[in-house]
Amino acid sequence: MLDLLIKNANLPDGRTGLDIAIQNGRIAEVGERVSPKGRETIDAGGQLVSPPFVDAHFHMDATLSFGIPRVNQSGTLLEGIALWGELKPQLTFEAIVARAMTYCDWAVGKGLLAIRSHVDVCDPRLLAVEALLEVKKRVAPYLDLQLVAFPQDGVLRSPGALENLKRSLDLGVEVVGGIPHFERTMADGAESVKILTELAAQRGLRVDMHCDETDDPLSRHIETLAYHTQRLGLHGRVNGSHLTSMHSMDNYYVSKLIPLMAEARVSAVANPLINITIQGRHDTYPKRRGMTRVPELLAAGVPVAFGHDCVMDPWYSLGSGDMLEVAHMGLHVAQMTGQDAMRACFRAVTETPAAILGIEGYGIAPGCNADLVLLQARDPIEALRLRATRLAVIRRGKVISHTPATTAALDLPGRARETSFRI
Ligand SMILES: [Zn+2]
Repeated sequence: MLDLLIKNANLPDGRTGLDIAIQNGRIAEVGERVSPKGRETIDAGGQLVSPPFVDAHFHMDATLSFGIPRVNQSGTLLEGIALWGELKPQLTFEAIVARAMTYCDWAVGKGLLAIRSHVDVCDPRLLAVEALLEVKKRVAPYLDLQLVAFPQDGVLRSPGALENLKRSLDLGVEVVGGIPHFERTMADGAESVKILTELAAQRGLRVDMHCDETDDPLSRHIETLAYHTQRLGLHGRVNGSHLTSMHSMDNYYVSKLIPLMAEARVSAVANPLINITIQGRHDTYPKRRGMTRVPELLAAGVPVAFGHDCVMDPWYSLGSGDMLEVAHMGLHVAQMTGQDAMRACFRAVTETPAAILGIEGYGIAPGCNADLVLLQARDPIEALRLRATRLAVIRRGKVISHTPATTAALDLPGRARETSFRI
């Protein structure tokens, strides 16, 4: 007897009408007509069953703090960083934990079961680090939270930041972060990349830097990041987040840069909701979109994920933990409206970030963790179009969240009563 049998599911890779058998928290079998009965059966009815959404770039220490102590008036990145600096002394352990736990509830409801969150390590109290390590422990049964030691004010620019960053790694933060474009000079930015990648190599850790989050086409720290990744043999373990300067770079230079990233197997995370609202703020018209070159990176074999980055914080007052909303914005900003391109956008919030985070047992195949989302859509493109309802969210074979299907019963003059239709 199986623990759970999901019948008649469509999968993101295009296969249709399959049964998924689940035993002991793992997928036991995927096939056309799985014979053993399940203690519980879900009829997917030809709708999409996907592995869970994954957010490769978030700031859980700042989330849901919108308006505290004030609102970002200019909407710029730099006012956001200044505002976060005003908020930091007012933070308490309890408040960070409470806000993060609320966000994790939202995430689960949206089928988002793995998040890589940067955590600011510039505060010598390491309050946010300790709070998010506590949250990571509490949510572990239902959500994988991976933390990045992020020196928001610059690892060289902010006194004591490197020591604080090392202390946070000692406490259990598992990824090395950085922000080279925020250091005082280009040379300091390059030096910070060298120091931080060497630290990651010594400790056997992954790297994820906020890299070139600027409209300045001469911000080229991604080149340095790819160089040190190659030099230190960190292939496949390093990610460049944002990379918005690439939007404004000279095409000739980019034709050299992208192959260097591919050679070093450096991945990229674009954050479409944030990039489209924060970049280009110094432009009149035309205004730059400010998102990195997603189709070109993908064409060169560089893995690209889409991250949420911010939800109701000093940088962004909107957001809901819905990775389909993130991917929907990404495909519009990148003009990825072809059928294959839209499917790549769905992968950019599922399997690609799962690989960037190094999540084991992710996917729909025998032996994988039974972590799944049943969507009210037939395929990934329809899921994006509708930002489809998450009918059921499953973790290790158990339904942990469900949302009723979106339907409408109309009673209009001249229309048949109780016309039920999909929205
Ligand atoms: Zn960020």
